Amino acid sequence: MLIVPEPGVQHKILEEFDHETGAHVADLYDIASTVCPGVAETTILITDADEGAESDTYTLHYPDYDIISITSDVEFYRQFTNGLLSQRFIRLVKALNKPDLGKNIADWIDVSFAHELGHVAAAARVRTAYGENGINELNANLSKQYFNLPLAMPTTEAQRSWHNNTGGYRTYLESYGYTPEVFKAMLEQNLKNYTELPTEISADNFAISAMRRLYDGTTTDQGSDFLFCMQI
Ligand SMILES: [Zn+2]
Repeated sequence: MLIVPEPGVQHKILEEFDHETGAHVADLYDIASTVCPGVAETTILITDADEGAESDTYTLHYPDYDIISITSDVEFYRQFTNGLLSQRFIRLVKALNKPDLGKNIADWIDVSFAHELGHVAAAARVRTAYGENGINELNANLSKQYFNLPLAMPTTEAQRSWHNNTGGYRTYLESYGYTPEVFKAMLEQNLKNYTELPTEISADNFAISAMRRLYDGTTTDQGSDFLFCMQI
């Protein structure tokens, strides 16, 4: 079971996590909350692989955008270096133009966390402007985008469903002739298409701005998605 921290404890937990991993999630949370106050209402949970299948994932909790789970399992982040997710943030890394970026696991924790904060910021903006109806529409639009992916769901979710045979997922695909090799190729195509979804590009752009501010205090990101929550 996931334990939601008390508000006052939240920051301390993030700082401890940063201390252990070398990441900067506490600073990124502050940066995003300053620019988009709605972000401060999101709970950040640190989970680890030992807590079971439900909690060993890195994810934003839909449909309310109220929780981001960060896994402390470094194996998850290794996928960004030499695994399935190695192409995921290529555009973002290029935009940041920092030669050493990605050499440490901590960089991937920062990048993926900043990206999720981008989704939360977008949802906060929609909620402020259009209320819960706006959130419902946002989620319906997201479902539609996912449904059009080759595997009809986010890549890591498909990978997990195959691995755990969730609801007979692997058995079903195997009955249609999917071998592990074919599925791997599908995962790669799925990731490519996923990376290009409008909501993902928008969250990436937010992450680029948040990371820039983290690295060098740059605040002049005119025209970027980082400022979008101040524009309503
Ligand atoms: Zn995303």
